Amino acid sequence: MAAGTPTPDALVVGGGIVGLSVAWSACRAGVRVTLVDPAPGRGATWAAAGMLAPVTEVHFGEEALVALLLAAADAWPTFAADLEGATGRRVGLRTEGTLVVAADRSDRLAIDQVTLFQRSLGLPVTALTGRDCRTREPALAASVAGGADVPGDHQVDNRLVAEALVAACSDAGVTMVAQRAASLAVDGAGRATGVVLADGTVLGAGTVVLALGTAWQSLGGLPAPLVPPVRPVLGVTLRLRARGTALVPTRTVRGLVHGSVSYLVPRADGTVVVGATVEERGEPVEVTAGAVHGLLRDARTLVPSVDEYTLVDATAGLRPGTPDNGPVVGPVDLPGLVVAGGTYRNGILLAPLVGRGVADLLAGGAVDGPLAAFGPGRFAAGAGTPVPAAGARR
Ligand SMILES: Cc1cc2nc3c(=O)[nH]c(=O)nc-3n(C[C@H](O)[C@H](O)[C@H](O)COP(=O)(O)OP(=O)(O)OC[C@H]3O[C@@H](n4cnc5c(N)ncnc54)[C@H](O)[C@@H]3O)c2cc1C
Repeated sequence: MAAGTPTPDALVVGGGIVGLSVAWSACRAGVRVTLVDPAPGRGATWAAAGMLAPVTEVHFGEEALVALLLAAADAWPTFAADLEGATGRRVGLRTEGTLVVAADRSDRLAIDQVTLFQRSLGLPVTALTGRDCRTREPALAASVAGGADVPGDHQVDNRLVAEALVAACSDAGVTMVAQRAASLAVDGAGRATGVVLADGTVLGAGTVVLALGTAWQSLGGLPAPLVPPVRPVLGVTLRLRARGTALVPTRTVRGLVHGSVSYLVPRADGTVVVGATVEERGEPVEVTAGAVHGLLRDARTLVPSVDEYTLVDATAGLRPGTPDNGPVVGPVDLPGLVVAGGTYRNGILLAPLVGRGVADLLAGGAVDGPLAAFGPGRFAAGAGTPVPAAGARR
């Protein structure tokens, strides 16, 4: 930052979809913001599939997330319209809904159980026969054994969203610093005052917001008890493109293939996102041949015309998982410091809500609504046992 630049109200460290949403929302609320990230939008945000799935992302043991995910889905149409209005860019919000399909009869039994569970929570899901599924989506294999219709689960093109947010932040006056933050700066009174960049530059701010994805250990000076309990969960997605007359699903297809999870998310531009592997580990963030093989094998079992698509891209990313699979958003026990992250499999879905919640905080208010239950304090010693993690599914 140039010498003499006034100290911003807020310094957002990390420009994935969470940090970018915080920065843009805060800036629109009148907060002066600086955002620090050497490669904004290129972490898990770039690898994601962009499903906005408040229904199909509810698994056994995750009832606590339902209200949050539904509120997050409600926030998306306005967020997308505002972002497109501010930048003149499309972000690819699609509302055709989602079809859940089973590759065989035992997958069908598993899907039926989840459908019953989701219906018991009042979520809009309708069980379908195999024939019903193929009538809705002729691209599906003749062997598909049934499934469910989930009209409320939508999608957005997460890469377009990330690029639009970078543009929107710049246009709105967020100062973008393309560097890595090396350590947190804390004054003698124990207040966070900014960060020290990798080149030694010190950036000050009224409040520091850490939105580091899974890279919490990369920042020096953050007291260990304040590091959110975020673990990396590696995932790979593929981008394919249909050629010629090859059939393409018209909506998101999520499937179980002999017990393994698979999805195909068709974009408006003709690409299809296929996902995703789930590995409980972090670095190296690489795409293995085995990951590509498994993803293609399962996708072509559900949609045989996948064989005719071209492979455009394979990307790995680290989902920021937490002990109860819920996000971690709010002030921590160090004045001037706020954390925003832990969005796990739902960071694209949650970003507008998290952005608004932290912006409210920075503008002098509080995080309210369903997000208020997901503060960092719930993991503090003596705060009670968090909801146990259920199986990761994307
Ligand atoms: C394969 C896969 C599929 C997914 N599919 C979906 C989906 O369909 N729908 C959905 O809602 N969610 C999905 N997710 C989850 C979603 O992508 C994540 O929850 C979300 O991207 C997390 O956002 P983030 O901003 O916290 O982290 P990231 O996107 O990882 O961003 C973190 C940022 O912090 C920066 N950073 C790190 N350290 C520093 C530092 N020291 N200084 C400065 N900057 C730093 C990085 O450069 C990076 O830009 C998926 C994730 C994966 C991996």
